[in-house]
Amino acid sequence: MNGMFGGGNTITLFRVRGIRIAVDWSWFLILFLVIFWLSDFYGSLLDQPGSSTEPYLLAVASAAGFFGSIVLHELGHAFVAVRNGIGIDTIRLWIFGGVAQMDRESGSPGVEFRVAIAGPLVTAVIAAVLIAIGIASVGGSAFSDAIQLRVSADANGLTAMVAWLAAVNLLVLGFNLLPAFPMDGGRIVRAVAWKITGKRSAATRFAAGLGRVFGFIFIGVGILITFNGYVFSGIWLALIGFLVNSSARAATMQTAVAGRLEGIRVGDVMDDSPVAIPGDTTIDRALDEYFVRYRWSWFPVVDDRGAFLGLVVRDRIEQIAEIDRQRAVVADHLEDRSRACHISEEALLESVLGNPDMRRFGALMVTDGVGRLAGVITVEQLGRALKPH
Ligand SMILES: [Zn+2]
Repeated sequence: MNGMFGGGNTITLFRVRGIRIAVDWSWFLILFLVIFWLSDFYGSLLDQPGSSTEPYLLAVASAAGFFGSIVLHELGHAFVAVRNGIGIDTIRLWIFGGVAQMDRESGSPGVEFRVAIAGPLVTAVIAAVLIAIGIASVGGSAFSDAIQLRVSADANGLTAMVAWLAAVNLLVLGFNLLPAFPMDGGRIVRAVAWKITGKRSAATRFAAGLGRVFGFIFIGVGILITFNGYVFSGIWLALIGFLVNSSARAATMQTAVAGRLEGIRVGDVMDDSPVAIPGDTTIDRALDEYFVRYRWSWFPVVDDRGAFLGLVVRDRIEQIAEIDRQRAVVADHLEDRSRACHISEEALLESVLGNPDMRRFGALMVTDGVGRLAGVITVEQLGRALKPH
């Protein structure tokens, strides 16, 4: 799930193999509530007031364990993603759990499946280890009581903490495995449907449809719980439902857009007779014969063989002193990094979406197999291709 509610201010806690672990303010609310609620719980378990030292320390240790469990879950996703060539810059923790922010979507159903299941697998291992520790220290039946948060006569603080963490990890596991795309279980469903049909967009539509249904169920159950007195949990679940529902709807809309672009190449929609300035043109001629005449704010520059060199921008060359304009040539005054603003005419139109240079100049230069300028694709042309036809 990506940041629909404030992806804004995060605090970096530490880095693991280059991945930034960051939290936002809403995560502290969860930690505060966990500590507040657990101090009380451990207090009544140990027959001490919740404000005394031992229940409080147990509550803080439990909150730290909860934090560690969620980070390990996300690192599970992240390591598998990185191993499959998907970049992960940040793992962000917020009020609705953790998000490993991937720089692109998986390219095959196998990768999608492995990335999606890695987190729940880590959580399952954590729960199994905690349960094994608990059973080894107090025996099966006493630990079974503890994991159901039942207060037993010979309750001991550490066992209760291990039991609480095991229970929380089981809850996280079960919740994440619900087929509510874009949650883990929904991604697993998408990977399986993708594998069976061979079509990513059809699989996404199917998984997202299920996600929307689950979103509505979460909202309904959340409202029900709220009116039964569990106000925080109820509102929290309803908001998750809202988030799941809108992310699923956005995914459906994205596949509709990508579907319209499917198979169309940049060369099919570009303007194939772009006006370009030869690199040896002097600045004053470029201003007179191109900028004044066409009134554009930039032009592509080509060498004598037609190879794309970069862009020349009006605001920039107008700053050149009048006396230098007769000798200086445009090839020596190209815009910084503008040489990279090109794309192959064979590239799929999909790849133009989200290209940062497209946003910078409102267009991309299109080059042929040997680097010659073959055309220009503008935001308007892309927009026309995106319209339903
Ligand atoms: Zn996950």
